[in-house]
Order: sequence, then structure tokens, then C-alpha cells
Amino acid sequence: TIPLFLHTFIFRASGLVSLPSILLLGPSGSGKTSLLTLFERGANASTHTSQSPIAVECSLPVGAIAGTDKYRSINDPTNLTHKKFLLLDTPGHGKLRHHALETITNPQNLKGVIFLVDAANMATGDEGLRQTADYLHDVLLLLQKRMSNGASKAPKEMAVLIAANKMDLFTALPAALVKSSLETEITKLRVSRSKGLLDSGVNMGDDGEDNDDWLGEMGSKDFKLSQMEEFNIMVEVAGGNVTGNANVEKWWKWVGDRL
Ligand code: GDP
Repeated sequence: TIPLFLHTFIFRASGLVSLPSILLLGPSGSGKTSLLTLFERGANASTHTSQSPIAVECSLPVGAIAGTDKYRSINDPTNLTHKKFLLLDTPGHGKLRHHALETITNPQNLKGVIFLVDAANMATGDEGLRQTADYLHDVLLLLQKRMSNGASKAPKEMAVLIAANKMDLFTALPAALVKSSLETEITKLRVSRSKGLLDSGVNMGDDGEDNDDWLGEMGSKDFKLSQMEEFNIMVEVAGGNVTGNANVEKWWKWVGDRL
């Protein structure tokens, strides 16, 4: 294997992303910038920021053991080396969203997607919930299409972490409720979108496939995140908070398991 420093050097020198990368998505205000700063700092004083404004080089802190190291002894000195990865930040603003979605369709060593949500801004009937669900729906649909069209570049499995942020606020929904609220909202979205497509005839004659834009299990009444497993997309929801007394352990562990 190539030594890590060489890996980093090659990345820097050629602009090729050779480090594993994690894509960070989510509506604006969900805490992406804050999380990026925290992850970049990590527990390692010598982390460097890459040239590219959207790719930040991070390292998994000591204590959060990467998945491939699971069976190593605690006393094994290799546990002290930081696992490096790139965190790709993306603008959450609606108009800039296509940049974020491009990274999904054209990934370089993409290991997973973190979709950050503001758990304190997800009350039923809230505009925040609707917008968040809308964005998540688009991200999952894009992944579903990519995984199901058998593209040679498509990975066998893609992991998505819905990181329910701002758990320090008392108005924040617990992770289980964040999950069910998003599922309920996407259920509604799915129906209204497919109806819209039928009405406009958009899908007519589209190489005979009229199911392309339906997220999850065909014919299902309720959308469940678990329906994505059929497309080898594993979605998890975990709570945490970035600011204040930061609690991002579950997210770190999830990242570690993907590296
Ligand atoms: P971005 O638009 O997704 O990049 O979000 P920012 O990182 O700019 O965060 C938006 C706002 O939420 C800022 O005022 C942050 O200080 C705040 N914020 C981010 N994470 C947390 C958190 O875990 N708890 C609380 N209470 N506020 C947070």
C-alpha cells in the first residue's frame, strides 16, 4: 500500500482525490460550516486545509476507531495514527444545490453522505421540515438512480447518515422523531410529485420507464428510509450537536466505520 503521506502528496500534487471522501449535505442553517470546522480540527493539531475551498482534509481522532481497525488491539500503536479523509462541503442554498448533487453523480472515492438537519426546525407543518424533506428526497432519488442504473462506477453500497443536529436545544426533536417526520413528509412529497409528473405527461415515452422518479419501494403507501436498502443505500439517523458542548461521537463512529 502507498504510505499515507504519499497519498496526501499525490492528492495535493495532481488534484486527484485519492483519500476516501465523505460528502456533507444539508439545508443552509443546519450547521454544516460549524461541523466542518469541528471535524477539521479534530484531535489533531497538524491537520491541513486543502487548496480546494470545498474539500477539507480531516482525520479521525484517537478513540474513534475506523472500521478496518476494529479487530486490532487497543494497545496496537497503529490505532494512534489518524485515519484521514476528505469532507466535501456543499452549499445548502437551493440555487447552488446542483453542485452538491453533481458530487453524488461523479464521486471520487466517495464513502458516504452525511445529510445534516436542524432537529430544532422540524416541527410538523413547518416550512423547515418541508424544505429539508424536499432536499433529502432529491438526494436519495439521485443515489437510487445511480445505484440502480448499473453504472460501472457505481459502488456496491452507499451509506447515508442523517445527522440530527442541535440536540442541545430543548426544542430539538429526538432522532427517532426526526426520522419519522422526514418519512411522513417524503411520503406526501412522493405522491404530489408523481401526480405532477402524470399531469404534465413528462414521463410519457421516456424509454418506457415511468417509475424512474419514484423514491423507494414501488406501490408502497408510506415511505420508509429502510426502503432504500433495496437499492443498497443504507440510511441511518443519529443525533448530536456541534456547538456548545459538542457531541458528535455517533457521527464520528459512523465515519470511522466507512473508512
Ligand atoms: P450552515 O448554513 O449549514 O453552514 O450552518 P452554520 O454552520 O452556519 O450554522 C447555522 C447556525 O446554527 C449558526 O448560528 C450555528 O452557530 C448554529 N449551530 C450549528 N450547530 C449547532 C448546534 O449543534 N447547536 C446549536 N444550538 N446551534 C448550532
